[in-house]
Amino acid sequence: MVKAVVGANWGDEGKGKITDMLAAKADIVVRFQGGANAGHTIVNNYGKFALHTLPSGVFYDHTTSIIGNGVALNIPILMGELKSITDKGVPMPKILISDRAQIVMPYHILLDQYEEERLAGKSFGSTKSGIAPFYSDKYAKIGFQVSELFDEDILKEKVERVAEIKNVLFEHMYHKDKIDTAKLLDTLHEYRDMVKPFVCDTSLYISNALKEGKTVLLEGQLGTLKDPDHGIYPMVTSSSTLAAFGAIGAGIAPYEIKQVVTVCKAYSSAVGAGAFVSEIFGDEADELRRRGGDGGEYGATTGRPRRMGWFDCVASKYGCRMQGTTDVAFTVLDVLGYLDEIPVCTGYEIDGEVTTDFPVTRLLEKAKPVIEKLPGWKCDIRGIKTYEELPKECRAYVEFIEERIGYPITMISNGPSRDDIIYRKK
Ligand code: GDP
Repeated sequence: MVKAVVGANWGDEGKGKITDMLAAKADIVVRFQGGANAGHTIVNNYGKFALHTLPSGVFYDHTTSIIGNGVALNIPILMGELKSITDKGVPMPKILISDRAQIVMPYHILLDQYEEERLAGKSFGSTKSGIAPFYSDKYAKIGFQVSELFDEDILKEKVERVAEIKNVLFEHMYHKDKIDTAKLLDTLHEYRDMVKPFVCDTSLYISNALKEGKTVLLEGQLGTLKDPDHGIYPMVTSSSTLAAFGAIGAGIAPYEIKQVVTVCKAYSSAVGAGAFVSEIFGDEADELRRRGGDGGEYGATTGRPRRMGWFDCVASKYGCRMQGTTDVAFTVLDVLGYLDEIPVCTGYEIDGEVTTDFPVTRLLEKAKPVIEKLPGWKCDIRGIKTYEELPKECRAYVEFIEERIGYPITMISNGPSRDDIIYRKK
């Protein structure tokens, strides 16, 4: 059976923690989209880790971790991450890399950097990991599949052909050095040697595992609002963040996905540019940022302070719907324990009309939040293990949000560790 763990919002919802937790009972964890441009923070018995490319199942010896075909594979970063976890005492995980995954090339990263320089202040807040140039090339059909690393003739011909195209930009648009094709070929040989032990037909591997009754987790990166089709285009990422894409990016049948666990934060945070209707500023934001997550709301990859806001019922209802949610995992609820009253965004006012349906970007820019306030619980809820033991104001907050988003909150995360979880029967 296949379960997906995906984000309802702008990312950073705590998917890493939920995946790590659910991976205790999974045989395979698959990354199906995205690249090293976002990170998961995981706290477990080995310590605290920021993973960017490795699936969150790497801390268990019973799980196989798969880099699916939909991923933007940055080979040196993957290898560096493997080393960093094994250096900290984690046993070498079982990793498989799809022979159809495509490779983030050194020139993708350069293109991202040069484009950010060119746009200066007008950029979308790229993490400069080469993700947008990578996916552009994939769909322009000039990307490199992992399998191609193993055919010298294809590689040589393609490096020359692609360099010719890229060099126009390097020379005339950005006024930088041209690609040195001999050096690039050497780099690709190094990449080939690095990935060789891990490459296989991962789609077939997963299909066989499913026939044997194994459990597979699909681990999403970022959240619904960063999806290129259904998110806040153009302030989105370049690959689909939706559970439905899990079927494509892992190479499985769509009907295999039986459970979609959508991770939703008890307040909002976002990185990068774009409309963020429930955003807060000043001291109010600073306090939530400082208290948020595990040690503050700062990007796992970039270290940038995250933009903060109150819970947004409109964005989250939409976020859950687009994911096809069966279960909501509601995270970081413990963080809100300091507030006397908790503001919640329950609607958007656009051109004088209030709506609870998430609009297209053009209208989103005009939306003003409709705020309702709920009583706070004013205590620390970490360590609580059952729903009934939560303060009644806290339960009222959960139930209010559940009713507004329209999807069942079956898990409540009240701390960063694996065991900080409250299951709710629905
Ligand atoms: P992801 O990209 O969706 O995995 O999210 P991040 O890793 O960027 O952000 C989640 C942060 O919140 C991490 O630092 C987690 O350790 C932390 N975290 C996750 N769940 C909880 C929770 O329930 N309470 C608290 N206080 N922190 C949490």
